[in-house]
Amino acid sequence: MTPVNFRFETDADGVALLTWDMPGRSMNVITLDVMRELDEAIDKVVADAAIKGCVVASGKDNFSGGADLTMLEGFSRQFADLAAKEGEEPATQAFFDGTRKLSQLYRKLETCGKPWAAAINGVCVGGAFELALACHYRVAADDDRTRVGLPEIKIGLFPGAGGSQRVPRLMQTGDALQMMFKGEQLKGAVAQKMGLVGEVAPAADIVAKAKAWIKNGGSPVAPWDRKDFRLPSGKVFSPAGMMTWPAANAIYRRETMDNYPAAKAILHAVYEGLQLPMDLALRVESRWFASILRSKEAAAMIRSLFVSMGELNKGARRPKAEPASKVKKLGVIGAGFMGASIGYVSAMAGIEVVLIDRDQASADKGKDISRNLITAQINRGRATSADRDALLARIEATDDYSKLAGVDLVVEAVFEDRDVKATAIKKAEAAMGAETIFASNTSTLPITSLAENFSRHEDFIGIHFFSPVERMMLVEIIVGAKTGPKALAHAIDFVRQIKKTPIVVNDTRGFYANRCVLNYIREGHLMLIEGVPPAMIENAGRMAGMPVGPLSLNDEVALDLGWKILQAEKKDLGPQAIDPRQEKLLETMVVKQQRLGRKNGKGFYDYPEKGPKKLWAGLGELQSAHLDPDAIDVEELKQRLLATQSVEAARTVEEGVVTDPREADVGSILGFGFAPFTGGTLSYIDGMGAKAFVEMCDKLAAKHGDRFAPPKLLRDMAAKGETFYGRFPPAKAA
Ligand code: NAD
Repeated sequence: MTPVNFRFETDADGVALLTWDMPGRSMNVITLDVMRELDEAIDKVVADAAIKGCVVASGKDNFSGGADLTMLEGFSRQFADLAAKEGEEPATQAFFDGTRKLSQLYRKLETCGKPWAAAINGVCVGGAFELALACHYRVAADDDRTRVGLPEIKIGLFPGAGGSQRVPRLMQTGDALQMMFKGEQLKGAVAQKMGLVGEVAPAADIVAKAKAWIKNGGSPVAPWDRKDFRLPSGKVFSPAGMMTWPAANAIYRRETMDNYPAAKAILHAVYEGLQLPMDLALRVESRWFASILRSKEAAAMIRSLFVSMGELNKGARRPKAEPASKVKKLGVIGAGFMGASIGYVSAMAGIEVVLIDRDQASADKGKDISRNLITAQINRGRATSADRDALLARIEATDDYSKLAGVDLVVEAVFEDRDVKATAIKKAEAAMGAETIFASNTSTLPITSLAENFSRHEDFIGIHFFSPVERMMLVEIIVGAKTGPKALAHAIDFVRQIKKTPIVVNDTRGFYANRCVLNYIREGHLMLIEGVPPAMIENAGRMAGMPVGPLSLNDEVALDLGWKILQAEKKDLGPQAIDPRQEKLLETMVVKQQRLGRKNGKGFYDYPEKGPKKLWAGLGELQSAHLDPDAIDVEELKQRLLATQSVEAARTVEEGVVTDPREADVGSILGFGFAPFTGGTLSYIDGMGAKAFVEMCDKLAAKHGDRFAPPKLLRDMAAKGETFYGRFPPAKAA
């Protein structure tokens, strides 16, 4: 059959060129059709005596992003169907056979008897890099865009088409494990240094270089299929191996807290595979791959971090009837900590920025933040001084509100004070265009009430960034009671333009992310007061899968901020709205001790000028008891730290603040690092089932208080056996 996804041609020297160029797609991906056509191409190369060997290249800007994950999801669906019809065993066999087809295909290429070389341009990751690894030679482009790597771990998977076996046969075991654990993507020159590619060359020459390798007699036998092959780090059972493996186990534990089965599977597959000849090693890898593909963690991570995030990034929640908008010029009011960085990320995305503050000096100081940030990029070799000059030329720092005439969107980031904001909003409205949308970056003030200061309520919206803006990928878009579809569409278009992920939430105190994460911090505070050793609280947070413990996190965001929020809640909602124990703790820390967190060098931790931070020795005096660490149930600490966030997320759904489970899940991972292996706050509940979650919360509530009491929605879902994704099916992108 004529291939659809590849072009096949042979030059006068008898070297074939297989150009991968899938029609109608911006990026090549591995599908069942691609696999079939590649299989046919291998047969053709073998069958035609006139063909010496074959180069695989891409007809696109990138080589390929790897396997089509919907194909992998298809295997899981087929498994479920077959298991229901014919039972677990035949379904498992079919699943194993299906999921190892790609690995077998690559092995067929590797052992076909003729030399293959890969010419790699742009991104070449996952299953695509595994194809390149199965080729006998690799030439990578030497440009900045070219990257090779095996990032599967980031969505709970691991390289299942030979990657876990070929990489540690090409480079030191420790480096190979690290590369796969981290899902690192390497530039061509680095990959060459590590032994993963044979040669780097200008992009225009890679095909010619790969062909030259074949013409010059490149061997069709992979190193590991030769009798004299030696593993780069020596045998597993050897003195060198004994240096590697115990440390590898320890690093695995430290980095994953045993929460990521895919990382453990990498360890197993490499350890077991390196003791076997290649064909058996690949079979071992396939077994681990099949078991990981069926894991709860992989399913949750693929859904949240690949499928849902992709859909949100495409604007799944955008009102479809609104015409597309683009910001050419942005107005930012308030050039402080947040405003300056909002200006920076926008200017980095090519947008012209008018950066306004109360006086010229403050505005200039805000612009300096951009200068500092891009200088740091230059120092890391990621930008040039020409980039810096162009970036700074796009930012106009001023104290003149009339410069807002002609901007396509205004984002306000002045002090978190109703009166200051009211003045800024009014001054902006007088200067900006009559059609332009106004957005506030407030973190606590209701959008609906702020909109009262603006005459066009429907054109007023919240665009809530997280700090540090240049690193945090999430943006919460807050829809006020009267916000219209045009404002929502413009806000989503802007967030996409600056390459961040938008979630859309309805107006409420704390919106979504802060509500959940403040509960995490509060739970840490309460554990401290109860008498749990501080180090144990912090470790329990990380063991639960959070990036940092609750006390560290509080130090980062500043204790006085938490204190202010608590006081505001008390004032607005009454004393019963807050926990008096937490209030007392923060009062001691902030008001009496002036311990504000990292920003003034003392919080729950001390921050010495030299050396790492240390838990403050005075914390013991804030505790009502000192519990015996051996008598504390660590599993319960972990449950408390995650459940307090998830139960809050469920409340936001019940209240209609969050309406789409994808947004709660993706928002929780991107916004505050909620244990990614769970798939996010709501997937954590779906993963264990609403019934089990409600039982756990009831137990925690009986022991620790009503803050764990499950909302009615959860009880209802538990009774009916429902999931969030079943009860609130997400809408498809336009
Ligand atoms: P900040 O104090 O660093 O910056 C505020 C800036 O606004 C200052 O430079 C100030 O001079 C300027 N300003 C005050 N009145 C002004 C006026 N009338 N016109 C022009 N400029 C004026 O504060 P920040 O931390 O950047 O916070 C700004 C907003 O962002 C607040 O609403 C805050 O709640 C929100 N926010 C903060 C964070 C955070 O982590 N700090 C996160 C999300 C949202």
